[in-house]
Amino acid sequence: MDEKKKKIKKPRGVARLIPGKCIACGGRCETSCPKGCITMDDNGEPIIDIKDCIGCGKCVKICPSEAIEMYLTPEELEILKQWEAQKAAGSEVEKAEELTDEEAAILAKIREYKGVWVFVEHTGGEVATVSWELLGVGADLAKTLGVELCAVVVGDKVEHLCNESFYHGASKAYLVDDPVFHNYRTESYYKAVCYLVEKYKPEIMLVGATGLGRDLAGAVATHLLTGLTADCTGLSIDDKGFLLQTRPAFGGNIMATIMTECTRPQMSTVRPHVMPMPVRDTARSGKIVRESPPIKEDDILIKVLEVIDDRKQGADAIDVAAAEVIVSGGRGMLNEENFGILQELADELGGVVGCSRAAVEAGYMPLERQVGQTGKTVRPKIYIACAISGAIQHLVGMQDSDVIIAINRDRSAAIFEVATYGIVGDVFQVVPSITNRLKELRSKKAS
Ligand SMILES: Cc1cc2nc3c(=O)[nH]c(=O)nc-3n(C[C@H](O)[C@H](O)[C@H](O)COP(=O)(O)OP(=O)(O)OC[C@H]3O[C@@H](n4cnc5c(N)ncnc54)[C@H](O)[C@@H]3O)c2cc1C
Repeated sequence: MDEKKKKIKKPRGVARLIPGKCIACGGRCETSCPKGCITMDDNGEPIIDIKDCIGCGKCVKICPSEAIEMYLTPEELEILKQWEAQKAAGSEVEKAEELTDEEAAILAKIREYKGVWVFVEHTGGEVATVSWELLGVGADLAKTLGVELCAVVVGDKVEHLCNESFYHGASKAYLVDDPVFHNYRTESYYKAVCYLVEKYKPEIMLVGATGLGRDLAGAVATHLLTGLTADCTGLSIDDKGFLLQTRPAFGGNIMATIMTECTRPQMSTVRPHVMPMPVRDTARSGKIVRESPPIKEDDILIKVLEVIDDRKQGADAIDVAAAEVIVSGGRGMLNEENFGILQELADELGGVVGCSRAAVEAGYMPLERQVGQTGKTVRPKIYIACAISGAIQHLVGMQDSDVIIAINRDRSAAIFEVATYGIVGDVFQVVPSITNRLKELRSKKAS
């Protein structure tokens, strides 16, 4: 006897009429029965033939006078006892039996998927560091699930990135190395990644929420018909092994936790600097799995004729997201010139100047410096928020900074709730005094 035959199904019961309650509504129960078990007598009341009753309960639901109920026959009561005994034993067989056939099929399919994958993004061999951050959080997820953490490396002459992936926590790397992948193109890359996913079936796939990553993840999820949660700020595993993907929703006013229940892999993108960078350990090693998906240059419609580097030069080239010290200004700075006092403080600390969206909208600072939900996510060692109220959309971009110093003249400003140190005062007095004190200390040290 196979395992399926041994499973005991919970009995559903059969329908019966409760005497004296039928109002002879016109035979609604008769028409609702999918097995034709109900006929009407001369009084317009149902005669229920339980021989063919499948216990669907449709007649019970449709009866306007609650004149029909379900009951268990003596045989079914016996089966119920056995079912309960099996349930108490808590066997997997029993748990599976509670599911509908469709649910059981989905469960069986998603169980085929194992492992946590991180796509290693690079441009011309230069890695987007968000990939290493994802290996950091991926390691925690893999540990909780008791599965492998794997890197996916696609490119041309990129084998060295597999070793870097091992240094950052992966124990295996799937390598697709071919000249056709020299430059990123959606079609070639998504086909390569989907080829690997279909062959090796990972349960989780993490991709950096960069321009390239967003493009790739969307194409992969669409092809695989699976769920993708963009811009996650938190990832964890629930007690059933599902990935909990947390991200701001409704303009950042609430945090939503999203699950991909019925399809695999569960895909998430995460912005740079949202997750901490894991320690790089060159003693770590792993296994490289080489793959050659059948993707030929002739099959790719897009051709790369020239690569133009559009990285900005001068002041706009400053990468706020990568800075270790950020002095940020908000609407309360009043004008562009006043940001000069923040620049002076930033220079003293070896940092850069950032800002809130209100400061960008007022034209005080360029968009590249904006911190927050629609700006950069930052994780500096020190974040000094000057005349910034602390709206949730700003906080989601900076609240993971190691030390937050807030300067605001309104003691009830929300920024103080996330601040390590709060200074209630006028930014035009407080900031210059801090800068002067730093200068003093520096000159004392030098003399
Ligand atoms: C969909 C969406 C996305 C958004 N994305 C972002 C984003 O990415 N980043 C972002 O920052 N915002 C974002 N916002 C806007 C956000 O809601 C706030 O409007 C914005 O952060 C407010 O900026 P602020 O704190 O500079 O200005 P305000 O809220 O006006 O606060 C100014 C603060 O300065 C203080 N102040 C004034 N003068 C002084 C002084 N002399 N000394 C000390 N303190 C003083 C005031 O007490 C006040 O707390 C977004 C909003 C939406 C709807």
